[in-house]
Amino acid sequence: MLNNKNGIIFGVANKRSIAWATALALHEAGAKLAFTYQGDRLKENVEELTNEAMPGSLLLSCDVSKQDEVDEAFRHIGEKFGRLDFLIHSIAFAPREALGGEYLNTSREAFLTALEISAYSLPQLARAAAPLMTEGGSIVSMSYYGAEKVVAGYNVMGVAKAALEASTRYLAKDLGPRNIRINAISAGPIQTLSARGVSDFSTMLKHHAERAPLGRNVEPREVGQTAVFLCSSMSSGITGEVIYVDCGYNIMGI
Ligand code: NAP
Repeated sequence: MLNNKNGIIFGVANKRSIAWATALALHEAGAKLAFTYQGDRLKENVEELTNEAMPGSLLLSCDVSKQDEVDEAFRHIGEKFGRLDFLIHSIAFAPREALGGEYLNTSREAFLTALEISAYSLPQLARAAAPLMTEGGSIVSMSYYGAEKVVAGYNVMGVAKAALEASTRYLAKDLGPRNIRINAISAGPIQTLSARGVSDFSTMLKHHAERAPLGRNVEPREVGQTAVFLCSSMSSGITGEVIYVDCGYNIMGI
């Protein structure tokens, strides 16, 4: 489905990362992938994973809070790939103290950091990727239900996800004329490194599994398969959307 397609994936921290499950699905579909990691701390992890599953992958250091690293990563991509067909944005961060207690007490610093890394990075990366998407393209980011409803403890990250989802719509309008589509996947809760930062995450997992029509939590590979669909021509008429991959949790009322 993605033979001869080149993509870049932001957000593999370890084998539990949603970005890694997404990478495996994209690789299986035939895509050629590049990965970014944030600093040397994560380089080894990403190297170990890709050496085993997809040796020879292009690995680039990129902290989205540093514009020169973003510019350098895309310069490399341009050199090695020439054309880019898709980008996976699977990054988020908020200081731990802001992911619990009352949202009311969110500090200015925590708010700005969360919004910068988790939401501003989407237009930032889309702007850098667009010139390389010379034959159209697809951009996919990862959101969560806390963008639209209050999820206790998710706090400032919910506000950042609301900004991410609104950015998806505004970017879809800007990038549509270049045949670049952009969509967000709203994934149900998955046990990852970032998820551990959210207070009482295990209660969240249990609650979702009990209330979701499918009676379980989503598997990371199901998120990855949806990303394959969104990066392929099968989804050519879809842009600016938030697609739920949450076993149906979000449709439930009483
Ligand atoms: P994860 O494995 O911890 O991935 C988060 C990634 O963001 C890490 O690779 C992290 O790198 C990266 N990141 C943080 N700050 C960065 C920066 N300044 N520059 C570049 N990268 C940075 O956790 P995950 O759960 O798979 O999260 C992936 C995405 O899915 C996030 O957008 C998250 O909000 C979303 N999501 C998660 C769930 C869930 O339940 N897990 C549900 C819905 C949506 P470091 O480790 O170096 O910080």
